[in-house]
Amino acid sequence: YRYFSIGEYPQGTPERGLFTLNEADLPELADGQVRVRNTWLSVDPYMRGRMSGVTTYIDPFALDAPLEGAAVGEVIASRDERFQEGDRVVHMGGWRDIAQLPGDALQPLPDIEVPSQAFLGVLGMPGMTAWTGLNVIAGMNDGDNVLVSAAGGAVGSLAVQLAKAKGGTVVGIAGTPAKRDWLESHGVVAVDYRDKDAATLTADLQAACPEGFDVYYENVGGVCLEAALNTLRVGARIAVCGMIAHYNDDTPAPGPSNLAMVLIRRARMQGFIVFDHWTHYPRFLEEVGPLVSAGRIDYEETIIEGLEKTPDAFLDLFQGANQGKMLVRL
Ligand code: NDP
Repeated sequence: YRYFSIGEYPQGTPERGLFTLNEADLPELADGQVRVRNTWLSVDPYMRGRMSGVTTYIDPFALDAPLEGAAVGEVIASRDERFQEGDRVVHMGGWRDIAQLPGDALQPLPDIEVPSQAFLGVLGMPGMTAWTGLNVIAGMNDGDNVLVSAAGGAVGSLAVQLAKAKGGTVVGIAGTPAKRDWLESHGVVAVDYRDKDAATLTADLQAACPEGFDVYYENVGGVCLEAALNTLRVGARIAVCGMIAHYNDDTPAPGPSNLAMVLIRRARMQGFIVFDHWTHYPRFLEEVGPLVSAGRIDYEETIIEGLEKTPDAFLDLFQGANQGKMLVRL
């Protein structure tokens, strides 16, 4: 089988050369193990954190070992009676073409009529993240005005649609014209952030929603956070989901100069990690699954072809090259 590994923990933005494609023989299938031919791999921004060499809420990637990540595939051999050849499963043995894992590490794909890769995006971890951040963390109420950053990505594009369905003004920050067109086509007011300072972005957000925001769904940090803090209404909630603008920083960035806005607007800012809320996953599937299979939730995918392109797909996340979920098809 073929798999990607890294030989060191990078500083700053990783180079393409960091990633090595290896070839090795799989050991014989042990009792309780399952062999899966991967068909889709997910690349996600959080993987950059696992390349930093320190334990955060999750361990760093082991060096010179197969990298991990969400993947969907088909069982090709099984020594676990719960799995048969041909079963479609989701698991964390990504960045490789064939995964051999204990049966406990696999989940059968939920029985919802959608393409299997949807369980890596809109009905998988990113979708569950959007739903959790909006409902559980921010406690969005009907009619709330909601601001979402990285709004054209996997998490953001579901967050804006869930927010829109609850009625208030929804504003999405996104860095490409294609993402902004997509947002506008869903009734979301789209705002560009690129090459703007916090004052300019603040003015643009105020123009987009003069009343201000009850909820800020934070995916980015940096200038987006600073501008968002200026546009909060009293009692606003900020769900801190991600800070992608900082994942490649080699020195810690200073915090927002206007953090006092949390005090002035009596706002609540709460970070969360979706895995802590995984007991809600069945409820999320029950609520959002039918909307997706009925075509009432729109989800976009950016598909990169071939295992060997996995690092490129991952690195492209930091350039904003993905519209919706970034995926690798094998
Ligand atoms: P996306 O599909 O949104 O891809 C990342 C996007 O971020 C890019 O397309 C780009 O869009 C934007 N971006 C990249 N660099 C910057 C930058 N420097 N400043 C502003 N925007 C930037 O990824 P996901 O939907 O998978 O993840 C979104 C966020 O949610 C990430 O921060 C991620 O870490 C976080 N997350 C958190 C989870 C949790 O449990 N807390 C779980 C899953 C994700 P653009 O063109 O707009 O620049």
